[in-house]
Amino acid sequence: MFGNLSALPADPILGLLAKYRLDENPNKIDLGVGVYKNEAGHTAILDCVKTAEKFRFDNEDTKVYIGPTGSALFNDKMTELVFGEHRVISENRVRTVSTPGGTGALRVAAEFIRSCKPGATIWVSDPTWANHTGLFQASGLTVKTYPYYDFENKNLKFAEMKAAIANVASDDVVLFHACCHNPSGMDLNQQQWQEMVELAKEKGFTPLIDMAYQGFGDGLNEDAYGVRLMADSVDEMILASSCSKNFGLYRERIGACSIIGKDSTVTDIANSVLLSVVRCIYSMPPAHGAAIVETILDSAELTTQWHQELAEMRNRINGNRQLLVDKLSEQGVSRDFNFITEQKGMFSFLGITPEQVQLLQDEFSIYMVGSSRMSIAGIANSNVDYLAKSIAKVL
Ligand code: PMP
Repeated sequence: MFGNLSALPADPILGLLAKYRLDENPNKIDLGVGVYKNEAGHTAILDCVKTAEKFRFDNEDTKVYIGPTGSALFNDKMTELVFGEHRVISENRVRTVSTPGGTGALRVAAEFIRSCKPGATIWVSDPTWANHTGLFQASGLTVKTYPYYDFENKNLKFAEMKAAIANVASDDVVLFHACCHNPSGMDLNQQQWQEMVELAKEKGFTPLIDMAYQGFGDGLNEDAYGVRLMADSVDEMILASSCSKNFGLYRERIGACSIIGKDSTVTDIANSVLLSVVRCIYSMPPAHGAAIVETILDSAELTTQWHQELAEMRNRINGNRQLLVDKLSEQGVSRDFNFITEQKGMFSFLGITPEQVQLLQDEFSIYMVGSSRMSIAGIANSNVDYLAKSIAKVL
């Protein structure tokens, strides 16, 4: 049976990381992998997470099955975190399940959509996170794209995006990135969110919002603006969230999938389908990451500490954006890179050619994906001069 298979290409980002690790140049820089790194290039465990883990170690008293919904406390805390004090909560119209990471949340959402309408069409931004397409297709959905990032002008193709979404059918799904768009760093502003909400109301499509970076853009509430606005205006919506980045819990695999229905009865029915989807994929989510997050969010002290640690990560990323632009200008680069400071989150496209990306790698040991998407957290005070000098040379 296996003889019928042909090999598939390895994930290009993981391939890049393998090459980076083998590179012996002491000046090498990794701008590929999308994880937060501190000034020393390390993805450290947050102090609030360490404290919560100690608490769990001392207090956990069973390893019995947790059930398909996962931890009720985690689900409630995550619902509050993403929606804030929202009427979908007071109206009992939202149900949340814990999932294995944001990817698990998206796959559960995709299978849930398949249950609502097999082969449904889902619209994703062009470009989008590379895994979106494969993941939705694996659930039998038809993936179509709407224009999003304007590589030429380093801006949103908002008019084209709007025109495309205005033609979406009422039983289609439209995927939005809540904040810190991956890979472009280009987010919708408040007015643009409002226009998307108007379209959702008018056309009746179902919004699926992917929120993998809450707190990495402008702040926890600011980054949830679009999610909350959309939830306030439509009858039905799906949200996939992740604790990988904002809690630094990458390998614990914890996230959440929330569904909003038009009333409590409809939502309960939808939730029964959601739970059956979970049961048929992985039965029950892992508990450890959820326990850490709920311990933090259930403690005023740990929550304050988490807010501080999250702000530190956010400020470092935003600081790196400015730092790179300043250093490029110091190198006498005439091209305007100011767009990097206006974009949000972990990524921006530098906007150089694939040949220049390759040159950076071959000549200077600077690693980024072929599209010139840079992981901003890989920039540090210790490497930014070398980075700016090298970019100036390949330009
Ligand atoms: N959505 C987007 C846009 C992402 O960038 C990522 C992570 N790179 C995810 C979802 C999945 O996150 P997780 O690691 O929690 O599965």
